[in-house]
Amino acid sequence: MTDYDIIVVGAGPIGSTYAYKMAKKGYNVAMYDMKNRIGQPLQCAGLVSTNIDKTRNLPDEFIDNKLKGANLISPDKTQIQVSKDETSAYVIDRVLYDKYLVNRAEDAGVDMYYATRVVDVDINNTMIKTEHDTYSSDVICVSCGPNSSTSKKMNPNIIDESFLAMQYIIKTQNTNTNYLNLHIDTNTLPGFIWRIPVSPFESRLGLFTTGSYQHAAKILNQYLETKDTIAEKVYGLIPKFNPKKKIVKNNTFLIGDAASQVKPTTGGGLIAGFNITDIAVENTDLMLKNHDNNYLKKYETDYHTLYDNEFKTQQNVQKIMKDLTEDDFNYMFKILRQYNVDEIISQYGDMDNQTQLIKQLIKSGIIFKLVPKIGIRRLKNIWKSQ
Ligand SMILES: Cc1cc2nc3c(=O)[nH]c(=O)nc-3n(C[C@H](O)[C@H](O)[C@H](O)COP(=O)(O)OP(=O)(O)OC[C@H]3O[C@@H](n4cnc5c(N)ncnc54)[C@H](O)[C@@H]3O)c2cc1C
Repeated sequence: MTDYDIIVVGAGPIGSTYAYKMAKKGYNVAMYDMKNRIGQPLQCAGLVSTNIDKTRNLPDEFIDNKLKGANLISPDKTQIQVSKDETSAYVIDRVLYDKYLVNRAEDAGVDMYYATRVVDVDINNTMIKTEHDTYSSDVICVSCGPNSSTSKKMNPNIIDESFLAMQYIIKTQNTNTNYLNLHIDTNTLPGFIWRIPVSPFESRLGLFTTGSYQHAAKILNQYLETKDTIAEKVYGLIPKFNPKKKIVKNNTFLIGDAASQVKPTTGGGLIAGFNITDIAVENTDLMLKNHDNNYLKKYETDYHTLYDNEFKTQQNVQKIMKDLTEDDFNYMFKILRQYNVDEIISQYGDMDNQTQLIKQLIKSGIIFKLVPKIGIRRLKNIWKSQ
């Protein structure tokens, strides 16, 4: 007899959504988080496309701002504005949202253990150890974020890689709340710099990079405006997607950042994580009902079927971007402006599904106008991923 049907390690948005959905199905679920204050410190830009509406997992009350689009800005400050008639993205309050998701799980019957660090996940016996106790279950869901020790156990030959992400909460003035700014800076590639308006008086200025903390701070400081004051500095890790990474062993599975299930180009993990949670819910429910852990392997294959193509395409785009120089970007932006590519991006651009846009750029022939500058070899990489 086990203590629980399901143990969830880590009460971030992905783990707590999974815990809630399984509790609603009638399972006896426990969730553990080392934090006492869920969601704090804030480690997120809080930007999600309106595709999140399809997940039905974001109540309106956690939306601080609605964006029409983005200004894409090249190193020489050439701008391309992309926008939709309707709202294209939300800026959310991640701290309150994360708390809400955990409270919702508790209300559905999940036993929540706050301030309880899981020190070991025993994959062979489906048990976890906290600092003081041991608990057993039929399934363990590991959703403890980047650098999971369970991921290392499942993947002894793979080193989990991450980007460093840094963000300032900026108090400011007169901000246009309709558009976020995305700056291309060759010092942060393949990452970029974001400035996301929360209100006319507050923005989130951040970046992700392969560089060090000092390097990130030095770059970010260059994007401060004279009207800005820094209210808070936060940083965290964004895992790099790795299609070779195993995410299931025996009755234990990884999900969310622990499974490196984030969009390579933007580092966003919420929407993909919620979609993958639905796959995990369906398959672990079948596993428990049929006493057949082949369904857990199906979770892994279903996830790869849904996301590998898109994530690999994004990785290829990222590789190409990494090789480009300032001149390349400046040239590209000018060509893109000249051929009104802002209209194509506005129509086909989707933060979560970038393959669609790339196909359209190839179809329209615009991509070939860039060839003399960015080179055939790099373009071949895009072709390969289609
Ligand atoms: C600076 C930054 C900006 C970002 N911006 C965006 C964005 O705008 N949009 C977007 O979609 N995504 C964004 N992301 C990514 C997004 O935040 C993550 O993908 C998302 O939080 C993943 O959720 P998760 O539940 O998998 O893990 P996490 O949110 O990392 O939660 C893991 C939880 O596990 C707990 N935990 C860890 N180890 C243990 C342990 N041993 N025992 C018990 N508990 C443990 C932690 O305390 C934490 O509460 C950003 C990330 C960063 C770093």
